[in-house]
Amino acid sequence: MNMSYIKSSIQKLNGYISPPQKEYLAKLNQNESPFDVPQPIKDELAEKIRHTPWNRYPVNESPELMQKLADWHGVARNQIILGNGSNQLFQTLLTATISPGDNALYTPPTFSLYHLFMDIYQGKLLPVMHPPESEYPIDKVLDCIKTQQPRLIFLCSPNNPTGYEMSMDMVEAICAAAEGLVFFDEAYGEFSEQSAIPLLQRFDNLLVSRTFSKAFSLAGLRFGYFIGNELLIRELRKVNLPYNINLFTEMTALRLLDERKTMQRNIDYIKTEKKRLYMALQEINGLQATPSAANFILVKGPDDLDLFQALKDRGVLVRDVSSYPLLNGRQRITVGLQAQNNLLLKTLESIMQDYK
Ligand code: PMP
Repeated sequence: MNMSYIKSSIQKLNGYISPPQKEYLAKLNQNESPFDVPQPIKDELAEKIRHTPWNRYPVNESPELMQKLADWHGVARNQIILGNGSNQLFQTLLTATISPGDNALYTPPTFSLYHLFMDIYQGKLLPVMHPPESEYPIDKVLDCIKTQQPRLIFLCSPNNPTGYEMSMDMVEAICAAAEGLVFFDEAYGEFSEQSAIPLLQRFDNLLVSRTFSKAFSLAGLRFGYFIGNELLIRELRKVNLPYNINLFTEMTALRLLDERKTMQRNIDYIKTEKKRLYMALQEINGLQATPSAANFILVKGPDDLDLFQALKDRGVLVRDVSSYPLLNGRQRITVGLQAQNNLLLKTLESIMQDYK
C-alpha cells in the first residue's frame, strides 16, 4: 500500500509494544500497585458519576485538582499541568521542545519511551550509559552537558528498569550546569525517601513528572502531572490537549488525594515486601538481584536460561528487559502482594533447581 503521506521517520518505527495483560497467577510485569482502589471508594465514585451529566465537557485544566496537588507539594497552582497519564504530558513536552535534529541527553538503560518519543520527533539522543549496579555516571553527564549543551536532559529516579536512585546533589549539579531543560521523572518517587520537588525553588530549568499509575493504584484511569516553573508550565499548556482529563478521572484523583493515609499504608507494605523479596532472591543460587528504590527488582539469571519464558510457563508474568542495552539476561519483577511474591519465589526456586 502506498503510504507516502506518512512521514518516513514514522514508518521506520516499531511503536510502543505493550506487554501482555492477561490474567496470570501472578502479574508482576507492569509496576502497577497490587492494591486496587478500595471498594467503598469505588462505589462512592460510581454513584457520583451516575448523577453527573456525561453530555457536558469536563472543566478544562481542573483548578480544583491543580490546587489540591499544589497544596500537597507546597507549590503554586499554576506550577502544575495535568495529563492523561504522565506519558501524555511527555508528548506535550516534546511537542513544545524538540524539532528535528535537536538533542537530548539520557542514561540508558532507562524508560523506553524517552527513546521512542525522541524518534517520533526526530530528535537526536545523546546516550551516556549507566550500567546496573554501578554509580551514576555524573562526570560523563556533566561533561556531555558542557560539550553538547543538550536541549533536554532526561533523568529518571528511581530509574525504570534498574531501580537506581540518584542523589539530589547530582540533580542539583546537573540543573546548575545545564542550559537546557532537566526533565526529572519521579514515576516511582513515592517509593523513595527523596524528591526533586524542593529543588524547583532554586532551578527554573527543572521539570518534575509524577503519576498516579503506581503508588496511587490508578493505572487504569490514566492520570499524571508535571510540576515546574510557572512560565515553563504556561508554555506547555499551549500545546497540551484540551479536556485531556475526563470527568471520572478528575473525580477519582480528587478523591484519592483525600486518601493519602491509605496510599501511604500501601506504599509501606510494598517497601517491606520489596526488602523481603530482595533478601530471598539473593538466597536463590544462580540468581542476582539488583538493589532497588522503586516497586520492582531487576533479576539476572544464567545466560543460557530463558527465565522469562520459564516463569511465564508456570503462570508468573514478569517484564522481559533482556533486550535493553546492558541488561542481557535480566528480568524486571514488580513487587506484588505477599502471596504473589511467595509464589514467585517458590517458582524461581523450582526453576533454578531444575536448571542445575
Ligand atoms: N515514567 C516511568 C519511568 C515509567 O516507568 C512509567 C510507567 N511505565 C511512566 C512514566 C508512565 O506513567 P503513566 O502511566 O503516568 O503514563
